[in-house]
Amino acid sequence: MSQIYSDSILRSLSGGLSGQSQPLPELGNASLSPAELAFELQTTLNPEAVLGRFSRVIQLAFPHDGFTYDHAGAKLQISQGRVSLHSCTYSLSLKGEDLGDLRFLRGRKFREPELAHLETMLTGLIYPLRNALLYQQAVQASQTDPLTGVHNRKALDQLLKRELASFERGGEPVALLVLDLDHFKRVNDTLGHTVGDRVLKAVTSCLVEATRASDMVFRSGGEEFVVLMRVAGPEDAARAAERIRTAVEQCAAVQDSAPGQHVTASIGVALARWRDTAVTLFDRADAAMYEVKRTGRNRVKVAD
Ligand code: GH3
Ligand code: MG
Ligand code: MG
Repeated sequence: MSQIYSDSILRSLSGGLSGQSQPLPELGNASLSPAELAFELQTTLNPEAVLGRFSRVIQLAFPHDGFTYDHAGAKLQISQGRVSLHSCTYSLSLKGEDLGDLRFLRGRKFREPELAHLETMLTGLIYPLRNALLYQQAVQASQTDPLTGVHNRKALDQLLKRELASFERGGEPVALLVLDLDHFKRVNDTLGHTVGDRVLKAVTSCLVEATRASDMVFRSGGEEFVVLMRVAGPEDAARAAERIRTAVEQCAAVQDSAPGQHVTASIGVALARWRDTAVTLFDRADAAMYEVKRTGRNRVKVAD
């Protein structure tokens, strides 16, 4: 019985361009130096697009069937092309900064001169990739609420537009829940702002736990949250909102975070309609929430 052994080459590559401006010998794209390659890749700030373009540009000089890219810190897992028997993986870094692991795959073994080529070309990838990762990090930070770690209002505006566009193309119904904590000023006034912040964090964890992975939780401001979810219909949305309301009221971590207070939430729900904008949908859910405030709090109301 014969056995097939696959090569799994592991290497690391640290640093980027080091003044190499001469063309790489024997490259398919004969005139492309690492500096020119870097220039070519710098036209996008999307890590997946940078890597995809890199893979295409080097294909002639370094034939491969596919690649994978993993960056745990940036929560990135990218794969393009197909999986093959042999692999060579590069742990990329720049001045001690981890830039993830890039693995190339193909059916036949990688030869040493090819790997030498690849390593030269990789030096042209390092800076564009680092810029794209930094940009992505900045975008994520600008859309994250620093206190609770969930999406903020800015992210809501963007994601809501995307969800509404998908709904208009015939996607599943979308429900928007506006949740406002009841008498939260009392919590701050009695227990202090620091405790108030702790309650907001506990409520956030409770919301994340009480919703499905596909639902999206946002802190839209102050003591107000939004949950965006795909639903089967109004009854389904009402059931989900009621489950969330009960979860807040019964969550031990939430109630323990505010001794002597009864933390509850009022929830307004609206389902997306044809031609809704982010504003009209939000306003209907918000109006339903205020209706709950007027009529006693700690309840759910679905907008008509
Ligand atoms: P209602 O039931 O009508 O919603 O009453 P409320 O007291 O919750 O509403 P109001 O809008 O009067 O007060 C909201 C309070 O939320 C006021 C503010 O002190 C508090 N708040 C807003 N943002 C934060 C925050 O980041 N941390 C803390 N601790 N409190 C906040
Ligand atoms: Mg409130
Ligand atoms: Mg409020």
